[in-house]
Amino acid sequence: MKVAVFVAPGKVEIRDVAKPVIQKPTDAIIRIIRACVCGSDLWWFRGIRAIEAESMVGHEAIGIVEEVGSAVNHIYPGDFVIVPFTHGCGQCVACEAGFDGDCLNQEKIKNGGYQGEYLRYTNADWALVKIPGQPQDYSDSVLNSLLALADVMATGYHAAVSAEVKEGDTVVVIGDGAVGLCGVIAAKMRGAKRIIAMSRHADRAELARDFGATDIVPERDDEAVEKVMALTNAAGADAVLECVGTQQSLQTAVRVTRPGAIVGCVGVPQQPEIKTEDIFWRNIGLRGGIASVTTYAKDLLLKAVLREEIHPGKVFTQRFNLNDIQSAYEAMDQRQAIKSLIVISQQ
Ligand SMILES: [Zn+2]
Ligand SMILES: [Zn+2]
Repeated sequence: MKVAVFVAPGKVEIRDVAKPVIQKPTDAIIRIIRACVCGSDLWWFRGIRAIEAESMVGHEAIGIVEEVGSAVNHIYPGDFVIVPFTHGCGQCVACEAGFDGDCLNQEKIKNGGYQGEYLRYTNADWALVKIPGQPQDYSDSVLNSLLALADVMATGYHAAVSAEVKEGDTVVVIGDGAVGLCGVIAAKMRGAKRIIAMSRHADRAELARDFGATDIVPERDDEAVEKVMALTNAAGADAVLECVGTQQSLQTAVRVTRPGAIVGCVGVPQQPEIKTEDIFWRNIGLRGGIASVTTYAKDLLLKAVLREEIHPGKVFTQRFNLNDIQSAYEAMDQRQAIKSLIVISQQ
């Protein structure tokens, strides 16, 4: 079977490898229908984060269950599923508290291989999210929105939950990648009245508005802070979604947060330092981390997509075949695509 692997910074290739097999009773083998490239994949693609050469890559997909282990009782061969990047067991204290991204029973293997034809998926019984019917029952755009639930929409939602976005809030979303754009959708779902999206790219700003942003701030640093303060009567936002992960974006996030409010962080931190005095003197809360993909997708987000109330699949602005994986990465790296879709099979 074919799968994408990391070769060197700036280079991914397709390899022919043995089809994965069930290794544990809790596994499932998934035949992938659609996968995609993630903003977080660009960190290693650009050589900023090191990963081993020949690592299988990709961590977001939808697919058909081909085979299940003996301890998988709720998922059956033939089921159409969302394949989250997380692997919650559904039973440990972290999963029960709603943090399945931090499941205590996850297998310590490198997550990858979703950009391929078949995948061995661990903790399949609870973590996979069953979609009613089969792929051919859905439109192209709904399939893309279902795919977005494997990571970016759930992660954007996690930012909004972490920041405790409430009805009537003014929310700032930092980051106009797919996660930030999904953060705009999430803020709207949770009843935000005003959503200020920080975006400096015309195509992304337009999609942010389509998703519910009421204001666009293209400035950065001091100018961005001034602009948000001007829009919020010099108070700052009731909730801030930080969807980038750099020092600069985190600092801006803290500065535009009103006293007592929370910054929900879902950008993977690139520089882990944070000045505690910036958060202390204004009672700023800081929380976030790995999204609870299954917790959000299983009920709330799946229903919202199937009722076509939300359309997170619009973040896929270019599509590729698995053989064109290099072009899929380059399109995102060069910001020609907001997010690259990889169509692996029609059904
Ligand atoms: Zn991702
Ligand atoms: Zn667990």
